[in-house]
Amino acid sequence: MPVAAAAHHVLILGGTTEARRLAAELAADPALEVTSSLAGRVAEPRLPAGEVRIGGFGGASGLAAWLREQHVDALIDATHPFAEVISRNAALAAAETHVPLLALRRPSWVPVPGDDWHPVGSLHEAAAALPGLGSRVFLTTGRLGLSAFAGLTELFFLARSVDAPEAPMPPRTEVLLDRGPFTLDGERAVLREHRIDVLVTKDSGGAATAPKLTAARELGLPVVVVRRPTPPAGLPEAPDVAAAVAWLTATL
Ligand code: NAP
Repeated sequence: MPVAAAAHHVLILGGTTEARRLAAELAADPALEVTSSLAGRVAEPRLPAGEVRIGGFGGASGLAAWLREQHVDALIDATHPFAEVISRNAALAAAETHVPLLALRRPSWVPVPGDDWHPVGSLHEAAAALPGLGSRVFLTTGRLGLSAFAGLTELFFLARSVDAPEAPMPPRTEVLLDRGPFTLDGERAVLREHRIDVLVTKDSGGAATAPKLTAARELGLPVVVVRRPTPPAGLPEAPDVAAAVAWLTATL
């Protein structure tokens, strides 16, 4: 149902902690109608405040059609920095419909003294780097993409994800089902209990999953860090929820 003409309709492309926080903040404003969109990848997602729709739009043209039909006044792409396709679609759909678009993107993690980081461009590059770095791998890149590591038959993998990953995956894989935020004590315990000697992570940024980096530093472990894909160019960006709210206030 289209929203009442009096309220400004904001669509948040979500699936992140920041997206949920933003939805909670905006949904408290009676002048706004807030809809969050989730891809539907997680079986039992944490639902944000306000309206929620779940599932793909059908590419950039489908998203553009949705923006028009639902009279969206502002679009905020608060998806994960590695959700490359939906961010590109958001840029295309916003350009087509002239709906103002903001990218809410948490800053990249930055190494500090004591870190032993090995930046790579993809999960396949991460797999190629691993044999020289360790034999017991803590893999925190999510349940999709384990196939990139499937050929590493000699290495042990502890693969952490919210929902169970599907084959193909490396033959010596133990799955740890869990969802952030994670604590430093908890991450220390995981590394010790599983005798981890190398960590693989995406450069997700943010605080919720950063303690693993501290725990790895304390133990002197190498960390393979998958660099972010290049985001669509020329869009306004906000590093946090407060900046996104300020943009929205100035835009509407
Ligand atoms: P993606 O590769 O960029 O997108 C693939 C397709 O999934 C899109 O074309 C779109 O389908 C649909 N989609 C993605 N995000 C959507 C959203 N918020 N609402 C509606 N449809 C969406 O996406 P992804 O990397 O698989 O990520 C999916 C979701 O998981 C995102 O919401 C993201 O924030 C969250 N997430 C991703 C990661 C990660 O590492 N990639 C980590 C944590 C959370 P249509 O073309 O049909 O519209």
